[in-house]
Amino acid sequence: MPLTDIQTRIETACNKAGRKLGSVHLIAVSKVQPNARVEAVLAEGHRVFGENRVQEAQGKWPDFKARFEGVKLHLIGPLQSNKVKPALDLFDAIHTLDREKLARRIATEVQARGACPELFIQVSTGEEPQKAGVMPADVDAFIKACQGLDLKIKGLMCIPPVEEEPSMHFALLAKMAKRNDLGGLSMGMSSDFESAIALGATHVRVGSAIFGERVKPA
Ligand SMILES: *Cc1c(COP(=O)(O)O)cnc(C)c1O
Repeated sequence: MPLTDIQTRIETACNKAGRKLGSVHLIAVSKVQPNARVEAVLAEGHRVFGENRVQEAQGKWPDFKARFEGVKLHLIGPLQSNKVKPALDLFDAIHTLDREKLARRIATEVQARGACPELFIQVSTGEEPQKAGVMPADVDAFIKACQGLDLKIKGLMCIPPVEEEPSMHFALLAKMAKRNDLGGLSMGMSSDFESAIALGATHVRVGSAIFGERVKPA
């Protein structure tokens, strides 16, 4: 689907929800997409992209960044503590902060650089222990722990379990953000970004709807 169609759908969802247009950021998720498709979206003027692997992003984004001004990269996949340095070299935002060890590593790096990426705490709203994310019961304490490390937390992020109705997860995430005074909500993908916007999403992560089906699994 053309980028402009996705932008129109976001606009419509904002209008329906009585929200300002600029309150929703579209992250174009370019993981495993052929470079030609990514370049086409850059050529259309879009500048905000999401990748889920540090190594893959290192392979393609330095070149795109050199050729297109103003690119902002969001890491939306798991981050290992030993990849914090290269991740902060490349990414402007990290959506997957979910454990103290990682928070401490990021805090050390942020102190050294004097600059902090936008940070989202990933919450396992479906309480799936085998997946990434802080358990809902631990979110408030984890936010405080991060803030205690002088990390500025932008908001919360979730990936609802595939087999469940996403709306209840979006609503839960919004509630947790609100009670912690966090303004950012990273939620909604190709199949459900409109309902995420209705429930307050500030960052929607849309991949296949923009670029087409991924040619190989992510
Ligand atoms: C791949 C991915 C997306 C985009 O998924 P689509 O269904 O292609 O829109 C969004 N968020 C995360 C965390 C992802 O890994």
